[in-house]
Amino acid sequence: MDANITASSPDTKIPFDPRQFGEAGRRLLDIDWTTTPVGAMDTWPQSLRIALGICLSSRFPMFVWWGPERINFYNDAYIPILGKRHPAAFGKPAHETWADIWDVVGPQSDLVLREGGATWNERVLLVMERNGYVENTWFTWSYSPIFDESGHIGGMFCACTEETARVAAEAERDRLAREAMTTAATLKTWFDQAPGFVALLRGRDFVFEMANDAYHQLVGHRRVLGLALFEALPDVRNQGYEELLLGTFTTGTPFIGRGMRVLLQEQPGAPPKERFVDLIYNPVRDGDGHVIGIFVQGHDVTDQVVAVKALQVADRRKDEFLATLAHELRNPLAPIRQGVAIARSNRVTEERRAWALGIIDRQVTHMAVLLDDLLDVSRISRGKINLSIRRVSLRSLIDAAVETAQPIMDRKQHQLTVLLPEQDIDLDADPVRMAQVISNLLSNAAKYTEPSGRVTLEAGRDATGIVIAIRDTGIGLEPASIDRIFELFSQVSSSLQQAEGGLGVGLALSKGLVEMHGGTLEASSQGLGKGSEFIVRLPAPG
Ligand code: ADP
Repeated sequence: MDANITASSPDTKIPFDPRQFGEAGRRLLDIDWTTTPVGAMDTWPQSLRIALGICLSSRFPMFVWWGPERINFYNDAYIPILGKRHPAAFGKPAHETWADIWDVVGPQSDLVLREGGATWNERVLLVMERNGYVENTWFTWSYSPIFDESGHIGGMFCACTEETARVAAEAERDRLAREAMTTAATLKTWFDQAPGFVALLRGRDFVFEMANDAYHQLVGHRRVLGLALFEALPDVRNQGYEELLLGTFTTGTPFIGRGMRVLLQEQPGAPPKERFVDLIYNPVRDGDGHVIGIFVQGHDVTDQVVAVKALQVADRRKDEFLATLAHELRNPLAPIRQGVAIARSNRVTEERRAWALGIIDRQVTHMAVLLDDLLDVSRISRGKINLSIRRVSLRSLIDAAVETAQPIMDRKQHQLTVLLPEQDIDLDADPVRMAQVISNLLSNAAKYTEPSGRVTLEAGRDATGIVIAIRDTGIGLEPASIDRIFELFSQVSSSLQQAEGGLGVGLALSKGLVEMHGGTLEASSQGLGKGSEFIVRLPAPG
């Protein structure tokens, strides 16, 4: 306080000039105190004057309640707390000013005035209407008694601070924190459930800070969090990924890779499996722009890559097939044309003409078989073949098949052995289609066996049903080709010279027909040059 302004006002006997203390000081002077229970100012006890000096000069919100009516005196710092109650409150009994919260503050002040102790209230909610609307306010305050010259309690003193804004700020901060937590939880759920794989790698060692479910699935659910990438997934080392990650880390340039091949173990120590991924490495930077990690995201595109490769193979096979088909359909045309020319000529003998017609007949039959097979295959794949299944004897089927295959057997001078049970057995089959299957297998055995080979057909019944096995001493099959030969239009390149105009359709057709009978067709071979065996299994008749 300025030492010059200590002069008391002569008419008030107050030991300071209230005017220096702003609005509250002016009100102190303006009010005619004789009309109030406190009485004329010059009768005020010294204790009240001193208390008012402390109160008015302070910049901390304070008030004095004096006398049994608790007449209000307060300083400028306290005015905002009163809101619209100021200026009317100055010089008025406290219970009038604070009627709306008297139930809380009234009994407390009673106690202070009666017993002389002090109160301490921290952040107490007071619901009041001070600005024209009801509001929740929070205050911290302390009441303490003011003793008068006679040692009695003349009034009370209160220093109080409003915490409403701070409480509101804290509530807002809590709300934001809760909101942030909810957002973080939502993001975490999205992150975990993202269909693509996502991982956050920190530092130059690429330590897993986060990895979502899809990422864990990609790496066979191995533990990765908290571990360095190549420590967690040693199988990924030396596949080029280290260089790519370091590239992004050191240059800060994102990396985008499509259909990238990676060999990954599904379990530690398990044989690595080939996967294909589309992925992006994005640099993660700190506040200064330095790269501190890599954000990895991508998709496992193995299924798509495999499907595309299969389509490419199928497409290539189709092209090969079309070329073979054109070739095979064209081949018979030259002999047919020549045969027609000879048959038309007047100058040839009847014998020569018959020979020419024989050629035409054989070539046309060959073309018809090719085309029939093709049509059958397409019908099978569209489910358009109807079998007429009936009870037939095994021997009759084999006889029909052998008869069809006999010409090629003879031509290649093979020795055909047929082993059948002494007692003929019955089965349920479409006789034409089943004979077609067996003759097809016999013809293949003849085709893919060097001349003068041995072909054996053995048929009978075992515990599983009817078994028809065709064995040859021919070129055999590599293990890798065994499954492929049943695919449409597939021909093993090593056997192409022997294919004799086949289109790679016969086995697919035979397998389809056997399966339509509820049976299976399987091939086996000891290897190239070691002969082959084809086994048809059919259910025994019920
Ligand atoms: P095609 O005989 O018209 O080529 P197939 O579907 O009958 O067609 O046979 C497919 C392929 O299976 C043949 O090209 C051949 O490579 C192989 N194959 C079939 N039967 C035998 C067999 N008995 N021995 C060795 N290879 C065979």
